[in-house]
Amino acid sequence: MRLGLGAKFTLTVLTILAVTMAANTFYFLDTSARFHEQQLVERGRALGRLISLVSPDAILGFDLLLLNDYTREVSSQRDVVYGVIVNPHGVPISSYINDSDPLIKKHLDAAKSNDVLKLLQELDGRAELIQLQFPIIHNGVLLGRFLVGISRQSLQSEFRRQLIVQILVLTAIVLFLSAAIYAVFRFNVLFPIRKLISASEEVGRGQYTLVEVRSADELGLLARAFNAMIEEVRQEQAKLHRQANFDVLTGLPNRMMALDRIDQEISRARRSHQRFAMFFIDLDNFKNVNDSLGHAVGDELLVATGARVQATLRDADTVARLGGDEFLVLAPDVTDEVQVEEIAERLIRAVSEPLELNGRKVVARCSIGIALFPDNGESGEMLMANADNAMYQAKSMGEGSAIFFTEEMNTRLHERMHMEQDLNLALDLGQLALHFQPIFDTATQSHRGAEVLLRWHHPERGTVNPEVFIPLAEATGQIVGIGDWVLEQVCRSWLAWHKAGIDPGFLAINISRIQFRKRFSQRLAELMSIYGVPPHALELEITESVLLDDHHQVAEELSSLRAVGVTLSLDDFGTGYSSLSYLKRFRFDVLKIDRSFVAGLPHDPDDVSLVKAILAMAKGLDLKVVAEGVENHDQLGFLALQGCDLAQGYLLARPMNDEAYTSHLKSLQASVEPLRLAAAPR
Ligand code: C2E
Ligand code: MG
Ligand code: MG
Repeated sequence: MRLGLGAKFTLTVLTILAVTMAANTFYFLDTSARFHEQQLVERGRALGRLISLVSPDAILGFDLLLLNDYTREVSSQRDVVYGVIVNPHGVPISSYINDSDPLIKKHLDAAKSNDVLKLLQELDGRAELIQLQFPIIHNGVLLGRFLVGISRQSLQSEFRRQLIVQILVLTAIVLFLSAAIYAVFRFNVLFPIRKLISASEEVGRGQYTLVEVRSADELGLLARAFNAMIEEVRQEQAKLHRQANFDVLTGLPNRMMALDRIDQEISRARRSHQRFAMFFIDLDNFKNVNDSLGHAVGDELLVATGARVQATLRDADTVARLGGDEFLVLAPDVTDEVQVEEIAERLIRAVSEPLELNGRKVVARCSIGIALFPDNGESGEMLMANADNAMYQAKSMGEGSAIFFTEEMNTRLHERMHMEQDLNLALDLGQLALHFQPIFDTATQSHRGAEVLLRWHHPERGTVNPEVFIPLAEATGQIVGIGDWVLEQVCRSWLAWHKAGIDPGFLAINISRIQFRKRFSQRLAELMSIYGVPPHALELEITESVLLDDHHQVAEELSSLRAVGVTLSLDDFGTGYSSLSYLKRFRFDVLKIDRSFVAGLPHDPDDVSLVKAILAMAKGLDLKVVAEGVENHDQLGFLALQGCDLAQGYLLARPMNDEAYTSHLKSLQASVEPLRLAAAPR
């Protein structure tokens, strides 16, 4: 049996009270019994003294009648059972026996005689009696003894009476005190504790109710401490909820919460047969902001973007930050595509409004992918993947674009995945090959070297353009292995030509941003020493995007490459992220003008002034310049006139495979004169 706190407390109080009161009562009764017995003995003594005083004359005068009077007078008192005067030999000479006393009566009935001596003998030592004797002395002579018996009967009945009264009083007091103490305990202790218990149980159910603090005692303090704890738990819970569901930087719902909202939106839209739109927003070139203005400014931009997006939306719409520079917007109850387009336009406009960050005016742009429920997916994951896919397509369309997801994108995505799988096997299956596109001296048109260009010969797809598979290999990281293969293959080819006594000139190898990692220079040096390739035989073409990465690391890697001794060339100059500060910070040997600038030469005034400016600047920085994509004589003539050092293009030579390039080199060596173009302008 389990006892509650109240029952335990009451039982303890009852026991303590009962034991204390019982001990007290016992002590009282015992003392009072002793006192009464003492009184009886004193009365006996008084009788004895009286008889000793009055009886000698009667004894000496043999006045037995008088003696009997004395004896009866003295003995016929309350509680006295007998009073007997015996001579010095113990023979009774006068006696008074109270034969109405039950004890005496019993003995007299049993003995059936009035023999006093015998009666005294039988009564001797009985616990019910106090038996006393007093000598009767006259002038120093013992005349006899007075024996008196006093009954304890009244003493005992008084004791019993007192005991009953005491027990009744005691029980009443114990019960009353127990009830009173229990009531006080219940009100002051049990009730507050029960409240604390039920409040604690509610905490377990996720409800945080404070308890009333009614006193300043320990329980009051406990209630106060409990309330403080509840408050803390509540705040901690709220904090956890915020951390789990909201983005710390922008305060917007995070990916978890976004998925939750999408699910809710799906169920709602299903019930009401409505459509909703999902916008996947990604900032364009956000990395540039981080790299050039610092992460704190990047954070500021994200916060501002979140706030602006939110400000353009309706109350029912949701905006979440998925991570990095990705935001997601959910717009419920959309009726048609036109309405969705309007929202997308509003979003683009809001994001691209100029912003002052760290004292600099920044114009952010974003790309948006749109997916509609139920048109583009029945589940949150599907919608998100499709909106994300559409966002990537928007990115490729240029900054500030928004496009709807289409099934065609899905096909492209699958195609991309297949290609990725095929590319995984391409190296092992020997489907990759190197082509070489000769590079010439612009003025003399003599052969100087070649750019190494990768080709993928796929059994079904045919020759896959590197512009298609290189970005894919970069996105998947496959470029690291492929790039390494290219490096080794170039070294191997160089060695083969060298052994055959052929001078291939320099070989310009394209290096991907992903490949350009810390140990790149180490690996290159290793391969060069294995195949005995001298540094002047190699040129590395690095695109400007490489320079966007961690400046410190890039600078370190470039100086290691410089220590190896290879030529460093900045590829596709003028496209994308060109910044003169890069040219100042990182030292290059060669600049390659992108073919898009060469295409308009010599008629497009923009291209003309751009190319002229690049050439002038290169001269100032002591850089050699290679013009790419030279397709006609006018272009070549213009470049030669402007002092462009080297040229590469279909006019001069198309990329050729190993075999073709070998024969090209052989034929060069055979003719002493540099290769002259059939229709080269004078
Ligand atoms: P790129 O480095 O700018 O290479 C020059 C591209 O221009 C080559 O395209 C080349 O065939 C093409 N080209 C050359 N002359 C002319 C011309 O007169 N007219 C036109 N329209 N095009 C011309 P390709 O071979 O398709 O390579 C495309 C890009 O793929 C390259 O651009 C380079 O960035 C990349 N790439 C090629 N091979 C490799 C490689 O081994 N590793 C890495 N990381 N990237 C490579
Ligand atoms: Mg190149
Ligand atoms: Mg190029």
